[in-house]
Amino acid sequence: MKICYAASEMAPFIKTGGLGDVLGALPEAMQKQGNDIKVFLPHYKTIDIGDNKIIPVEINSEIKINDQNYPLKINKIRFKKSNMGVYLVGSDHYFDREGIYLNPNTGKDYADNDERYIFFARAVLAILKEINFKPDIIHVHDWQAALVPVFLKTSLEKDPFYSGIKSILTIHNLAYQGEFTLERFKLLELPDKLMAPAIGPFEFYGKVNFLKAGITYADYISTVSNKYAEEIQTKEFGCGLEGVLKERNENIYGILNGVDYKVWSPSRDHKIHTTYHIANLSGKRTNKIELLNELKLPIRDAAPLIGIISRLEEQKGWNLIKEAADELLSMNVQLIVVGTGQPEYHKLLEDLEKKYPDKCKAILKFNDQMAHKVEAASDIFLMPSIFEPCGLNQMYSLRYGTIPIVRQVGGLADTVTDYDSNHNNGTGFVFIEKDSKSMLAAIKRAVDLFARKRTWTKFMKVGMKKDFSWSRTAKEYSKLYKNLLNS
Ligand code: ADP
Repeated sequence: MKICYAASEMAPFIKTGGLGDVLGALPEAMQKQGNDIKVFLPHYKTIDIGDNKIIPVEINSEIKINDQNYPLKINKIRFKKSNMGVYLVGSDHYFDREGIYLNPNTGKDYADNDERYIFFARAVLAILKEINFKPDIIHVHDWQAALVPVFLKTSLEKDPFYSGIKSILTIHNLAYQGEFTLERFKLLELPDKLMAPAIGPFEFYGKVNFLKAGITYADYISTVSNKYAEEIQTKEFGCGLEGVLKERNENIYGILNGVDYKVWSPSRDHKIHTTYHIANLSGKRTNKIELLNELKLPIRDAAPLIGIISRLEEQKGWNLIKEAADELLSMNVQLIVVGTGQPEYHKLLEDLEKKYPDKCKAILKFNDQMAHKVEAASDIFLMPSIFEPCGLNQMYSLRYGTIPIVRQVGGLADTVTDYDSNHNNGTGFVFIEKDSKSMLAAIKRAVDLFARKRTWTKFMKVGMKKDFSWSRTAKEYSKLYKNLLNS
């Protein structure tokens, strides 16, 4: 198959979240399966190309936006190992600036983000024609690339070069939709009927919505877990797009993201104090003692260490934790949090550290090494998300023998099963309701079981054997692509 990917992030070059990780893994996995792959990424100023070779590509195209012509500057990164080409879509005007989506001077979105990603989508399509690479499938990600399937079926519909190209739009987080004010619609140079109230694909409560249009025009839509694929078609999780998504119900698929076990395995993790293995878990205790010492918390073998690594945002369940904090810390537990985000939760954690100095520590930064240490040292990982498209830390936790406590939503519901004391199966503790009582009940169940050491160790091992590797994810995408081509 000839497959083209277009997205606004790709690890290790530029990444703010799970989207970057997927682009860092999926195209290469598909290339390994023998497919012909090209990836398109905006050429941000802050991109880190490491020691990869960068080759300028001669392209004589200009992209017209708002009656101005902007020259395209294309460079290509060629991977040494796989020979896969990544095209960096450059523009002095749109991408040669600090930050990715936000202006670091104001902390706000760049006011021309709509123009920047219109430019990107048009450029991707123009380059494909110029290099004469007609893909079978264009797989685009999130609102920043959602205009590609729109242009394919509107402004470029009559151009034979593009006819027959199929498209897939993957939604990594429905909360981000690319919404702009009504008067910006003209930048798209598309017929007014596409913005007609209630029936226009772009129209969303008087605003222009790029993701909504992408959902309407993409041949297939996918999300990063099965459960989230169902949830986004409901009012609770649909962020206002549930109606549009429901209409596309037959073409919505969920494929769980994979874990990079080269980076996240306790047996080969060089960021932790001592590596350990399912056959010998003594190293896990060493990691716990070392981390407690490093953070100047007392060592209490009978107290389970609860770890949290997360953005400090409402999405991640911080309101529940805030409500439950005193009751939680009155139990015989210790708590270590690694996270940054809303000031309200920074304050909460600073207060808790002061109030419970022997029980609670917060590292209020983005600190990758500390994230690894917390996964290895903790007995329990707490992830009470309000919604969770996929989530990675619960999968890392399973591999590290760190029992996850999760809310039954999205990818958390698809990856963690509740402990069943009658049959001794399950991989974690799962609660359903969006309230602190239910969360605390799950934590209490975990704390009680922790006291039964032999059962706990068996329980850890069940989770450690679970496999959420990328090869499985890549196979599912491959199946989806074939299914689309045969449809
Ligand atoms: P989301 O993309 O919604 O933030 P995910 O669970 O999909 O959540 O991915 C989050 C990733 O970011 C995980 O790899 C997690 O370990 C990491 N992470 C989040 N916050 C921090 C932090 N403060 N320091 C280090 N790593 C973090």
